[in-house]
Amino acid sequence: MKCAACGGNDLVYEERDVEYRYGKGVVVLAGLEAGYCPDCGEIMMKRDEAERYVTATRKLRVEVNTSVVSPRFIEIVRKKLGLNQAEADTVFSQPAGAFLAYERGIRPVPPLLVQLLKVLSNHPELLNEIDSPVIYPKQDWRSSYKQG
Ligand SMILES: [Zn+2]
Repeated sequence: MKCAACGGNDLVYEERDVEYRYGKGVVVLAGLEAGYCPDCGEIMMKRDEAERYVTATRKLRVEVNTSVVSPRFIEIVRKKLGLNQAEADTVFSQPAGAFLAYERGIRPVPPLLVQLLKVLSNHPELLNEIDSPVIYPKQDWRSSYKQG
């Protein structure tokens, strides 16, 4: 079967140890049974292996994202400021759905926002100093976010 991604070569079906990196984290999926493209590196998995891959990589991303700041901290400060998640997105000029993602650990919190929330945690009255937030147009942040 030709690679669906690049259409170049026939996939090689075998078990390989596949390394997945996210930020400073790494997880190895041992013996991942899949079709591997020798040209572009695409991996075509059957459903059960795809689920194993998705579960392991999601777990790693949450671990990396929550190692910088606890999602619970974000939620506590947001509630201390009297904001719901959508209001927090707006006030802190974040894309729609960002605080939901931060509080679930599925998206890294921008370092500058972490610093700001730490200050506001100790001085919630300073929220009044934040005005005229930049309102981002509705966007799908998943496609614009690059992991690093
Ligand atoms: Zn390919």
